[in-house]
Amino acid sequence: MAGKTVLILGGGTGGLVAANRLRRMLESEHRVVLVDRSPLFSFAPSFTWVMLGSRTSARISRDLRALGKKGIEFIIGEIQAIDTANKRVMVKDQRLEYDYLIISLGAEYSSAEIDGLGRTWTYYHLEGAEGIREHLPTFEGGRLAIVVSALPYKCPPAPYEGALLLDDYFRKRRIRDQVEITLYTPEQLPLQVTGEHIGKELVALLTRRGVSFRPKAKLMAVDHGAKTLEFDDGLRQPFDMVIATPVHRVPEVLVQSRLAAAGEWMEVDRETLAVAGQEDVFAIGDCNAVPMVGGSALPKAGVFAHGEAEVVCRNIAAEVAGVEAIWAYGGQGACFLETGGGKAAYVNGNFFAEPPDVTMRRPSRFAHWQKLGLERLWLWRWF
Ligand SMILES: Cc1cc2nc3c(=O)[nH]c(=O)nc-3n(C[C@H](O)[C@H](O)[C@H](O)COP(=O)(O)OP(=O)(O)OC[C@H]3O[C@@H](n4cnc5c(N)ncnc54)[C@H](O)[C@@H]3O)c2cc1C
Repeated sequence: MAGKTVLILGGGTGGLVAANRLRRMLESEHRVVLVDRSPLFSFAPSFTWVMLGSRTSARISRDLRALGKKGIEFIIGEIQAIDTANKRVMVKDQRLEYDYLIISLGAEYSSAEIDGLGRTWTYYHLEGAEGIREHLPTFEGGRLAIVVSALPYKCPPAPYEGALLLDDYFRKRRIRDQVEITLYTPEQLPLQVTGEHIGKELVALLTRRGVSFRPKAKLMAVDHGAKTLEFDDGLRQPFDMVIATPVHRVPEVLVQSRLAAAGEWMEVDRETLAVAGQEDVFAIGDCNAVPMVGGSALPKAGVFAHGEAEVVCRNIAAEVAGVEAIWAYGGQGACFLETGGGKAAYVNGNFFAEPPDVTMRRPSRFAHWQKLGLERLWLWRWF
């Protein structure tokens, strides 16, 4: 049997898991090739800790070139075109051929859609989290707005985590009574896809901590001169500091390569993650839209990228070995939501159930320790 090449596009959460899992499952005559524009992997669940200064960027980042020691070929470069008809991908001026393709290119950030959004603070990338860390000590009080700028966005609990951790931070600085924290979102309730009960629990938690919650608020513009947020219902809200999620879009290379329509996410089979009409091309993680009952899609979160990678890799390995590919993705997901004071809530359940069967455990020290363990495990296990 001739050696096969599995090409993995994107060295983020999904790509990293896929590369590791395949390298262990496939014999050495088969190649596992991973491509990313950057050699640096950073663990996003720790970005809120970077924002508050309890983590450095170096501590939560690893070099993807280290994967070479495991037999994973890593190529640094911009992916410019994906030609599934001829089974090849253009990376800078190299042409890479494949037998199986796993696309895990994540979501691209944009601010062009909303006037002034590009000048807001964000912890949705590492540099942004570092920027807030530098700025926060100079913030002596006023109105802090935390804004979900558009749907969908990665890790639905992250804005709520940010609000609760900042509440804790200002309490520790003893200036909490001088800071008004408001969270704006276009959703009716937090984490709407999980059902009403979790949303209501989260709103109650925010209220107990003095964080105002403004649902159904669709951001139209950020006027930095007048220091006001403008929403679609004409509401104008003053701010002194605004932290926002960027607008998330499917990566442009997927649109250019006709694998996704502009403004949409990649369509996949919800059990095999195969791209419609392509039996040897799979899309995992944030770049896809895995359909759920009721017409919505799975949230964009690393836990799903990870689970999807496991299924795709097992099926590819089975096929390469000449046995039946039987694995199906089940829609299980879990996430920690840090609430401050050394505690975290834990959201967990099956997102494919009808309706989604998801629960939230109330904040505990145990869950916070589990999150600390997860960070350690992640940065150790996959490098
Ligand atoms: C603040 C924050 C907190 C989060 N917390 C959690 C959490 O607690 N739990 C959880 O499950 N999820 C969390 N997430 C979400 C999680 O990080 C993402 O959902 C996950 O990383 C998605 O994995 P992915 O492989 O699809 O994409 P990514 O991890 O984004 O990887 C995509 C990769 O593709 C590369 N790429 C893209 N286009 C190109 C191109 N043209 N050429 C070359 N390379 C390219 C990028 O450089 C990137 O490395 C959080 C996210 C944020 C921002």
